[in-house]
Amino acid sequence: AITADDLPLDNSFAQLPPAFYTRLMPTPLPDPHFVAASGPAAALVGLDAQQLANEDFVAVFSGNRVPARAQPLSAVYSGHQFGVWAGQLGDGRAILLGDIATPGGPMELQLKGSGLTPYSRMGDGRAVLRSSIREFLCSEAMAALGIPTTRALMVTGSPQPVMRESVETAAVVTRMAPSFVRFGSFEHWYYRDKHDELRTLADYVIKAFYPELAGEPNPYKALLKEVTLRTARLIAQWQAVGFMHGVMNSDNMSILGLTLDYGPFGFMEAFDPNHICNHTDQHGRYSYANQPPIGHWNCYALANALLPLVGTVEDTQEALDVYQPEFARKIDELLHAKLGLASNREGDREFLDDTFKLMQDNHVDFTLFFRRLGKLQLQAPETDAPLRDLFIDRAAFDAWADKYRERLRTENSDDAARREAMMRTNPKYVLRNYLAQVAIERAQNGDFSEVEKLLSVLQQPFDEQPDNESYAALPPDWASHLEVSCSS
Ligand code: AMP
Ligand code: MG
Ligand code: MG
Repeated sequence: AITADDLPLDNSFAQLPPAFYTRLMPTPLPDPHFVAASGPAAALVGLDAQQLANEDFVAVFSGNRVPARAQPLSAVYSGHQFGVWAGQLGDGRAILLGDIATPGGPMELQLKGSGLTPYSRMGDGRAVLRSSIREFLCSEAMAALGIPTTRALMVTGSPQPVMRESVETAAVVTRMAPSFVRFGSFEHWYYRDKHDELRTLADYVIKAFYPELAGEPNPYKALLKEVTLRTARLIAQWQAVGFMHGVMNSDNMSILGLTLDYGPFGFMEAFDPNHICNHTDQHGRYSYANQPPIGHWNCYALANALLPLVGTVEDTQEALDVYQPEFARKIDELLHAKLGLASNREGDREFLDDTFKLMQDNHVDFTLFFRRLGKLQLQAPETDAPLRDLFIDRAAFDAWADKYRERLRTENSDDAARREAMMRTNPKYVLRNYLAQVAIERAQNGDFSEVEKLLSVLQQPFDEQPDNESYAALPPDWASHLEVSCSS
């Protein structure tokens, strides 16, 4: 078995000039212990989840011991927070250990919550167990849903007290991604008028992650266009599972189009397009309905920063203009699949709008609706009960179901084929807040088994898991009072 010192770390990001980061060591935590590890994430970097529980790896992934080949560093970036230029931010509590070559390309390993850095500003450099478990579970749940995301390898904890709204305890989550470069990493150099560094960063990103763009007549325009396309598709994927990020600041937007920085996120339950998952977001800038235009806004912020490299406003605008059509195309594709529609017909747009309006009027649970819809039988409305029961206004549901059946008939939809496709598109299991809360409260009492259990359920989100029906259930009454804020 390999030890942490055998971790085959390279340090690609550390090859950039020193202006891009600060080299530093993580700050040790007292009595670190294992909380959880993800088997699939471990496999990506040639490890297994069991071995991560041993002392050697717990020491390394709590920041208490730096493995032999690591060159730890924190990266600098800036960004727009809630639409306002925030100036310099940076890895205030994250430390990159290095990257590991995998068949799918390099994977960076980053500790989050590993102590103060030069970018900590008012923060304490720490993360609490609660938010670390949330990030861990959701990263792995999103990956299992097939949505581009940073990964989470493991969580370690420590009895060290950390002050938030109340006293909590410290934890470190080890994240993995090919790169943690953000839109804000580019904005940083643009706003400082440092166009050489801007170019160095763009060249690094293209060479390492978009090599196919290097030969384009204008590689920077091609980069902006590709990132804009990926962002549009990512947000369409979020909308299609009801995922709300909560803090879509430009420093949380990945240059690789990955879901990045899990804070006050949530999954839609009773459908409401104006739902705001982040209690701190009073005006709903990052509500469900606002995610698509905010994604575009963020691409605009990136475009602005890349303008000196792209060259002209026209070229920049052209690259940016792919956002809306790509989002529209992708969301249309995903929603057709969610409804089990194999073809595109006139009137579909209106039908989709009516469907969401009906869900909203009836406060229908997003995940349960699409899952149960997949079991509908064309010739047997009398079997609709489980689906119909989600609606308060049964007559409105019946009228809608008639139209849905009519629409299915226009393409001679086959029950079995449609059902099979819909079961692979509409997850049964998502990380509902209350499920995370139960696992967190047990973990805070020293019992990590529910974190492990929930992780295993979420790793097969499309499977029927007869023993785990309760994990697909509507939130209990106590959960209606759960509030999630930026505090992490
Ligand atoms: P976020 O809202 O999580 O994207 O964080 C915004 C900025 O605040 C980033 O630069 C983070 O590194 C920094 N930050 C958040 N929490 C802390 C903390 N506890 N200590 C130091 N920096 C933090
Ligand atoms: Mg962040
Ligand atoms: Mg955060």
